[in-house]
Amino acid sequence: MYESRCGVLCNSCERKEGVHCKGCINMEKPFWGGECKVKSCCESKKLNHCGECDEFPCDMLSNMGKDQGYDPSVKIEQCKKWSLE
Ligand code: SF4
Ligand code: SF4
Repeated sequence: MYESRCGVLCNSCERKEGVHCKGCINMEKPFWGGECKVKSCCESKKLNHCGECDEFPCDMLSNMGKDQGYDPSVKIEQCKKWSLE
C-alpha cells in the first residue's frame, strides 16, 4: 500500500513521531509547513502516487532532494513497486 505521493516510506521514518508528522497522505502540508510541489502536483491530478502519472518520472520528481544529498532513484523505484501492486 502506498505511503506517500513521491515514494518515500513514511511509515518507516524514524523521525515521524518526533516531529509529529502524520505522513504524506494524511497531512495537508508537509510537517515543515511549506508546500511540497510533488505532493501538490500529484494530488491535483487525483493520483495516489507519482507512479500512476503519465509523466512519471518527471524532472521534478527525478531531481527532488538531490541538492540536499538524497538519491531520488530510491523513491522512483518505490513508486514503480507500488504501481505493480
Ligand atoms: S516529499 Fe512531499 S510527496 Fe514526498 S512524502 Fe514528503 S510531502 Fe509527501
Ligand atoms: S510524476 Fe511528476 S508530474 Fe507526475 S504527479 Fe508526480 S510530480 Fe506530478
